[in-house]
Amino acid sequence: MSKNELQRFSTLALRQRKAHLLRTLTFPPDALHASFLERFLKCGHPNCHCRQGEKHGPFFYLSRCLPKRQMRTLLLKEESQILTARHGVEAYQRLLESLDQLSWINWELPRRGDPLQ
Ligand SMILES: [Zn+2]
Repeated sequence: MSKNELQRFSTLALRQRKAHLLRTLTFPPDALHASFLERFLKCGHPNCHCRQGEKHGPFFYLSRCLPKRQMRTLLLKEESQILTARHGVEAYQRLLESLDQLSWINWELPRRGDPLQ
C-alpha cells in the first residue's frame, strides 16, 4: 500500500491498519537484503553451442550494492541455497513494505492533527 492509497483511508482505518501491522510484524529470521538474480551465460569456448544462442544456465546469484559503487555477488550452487536465498530476499522485501506502511501512517496521522497513539 502506497502513501497515496493510505491518504484515502479514514483516520479510523489508518489506526486499524497500524494496529494490525503492530500485531503481525515479526522479524523474519531468514531476511536477506540483496537482489536475487537468474542469469544465462556464454562461456569462453569459441565452438560451444552457447555461441549459437543456447546459453549455459540458469545460474542463480545474490547481489548487493555497497557504498562507492562496489558490488558483492554470491553464486548459489545448491538447490537449497537457491530456495533459502529467494525466500530470504522476499521476506526482507515484505518486512520493508510493512515498515514503510507503518511509517506513512505515522506521517499521515499527525498531518491530520491526530495523535500517534
Ligand atoms: Zn559455452
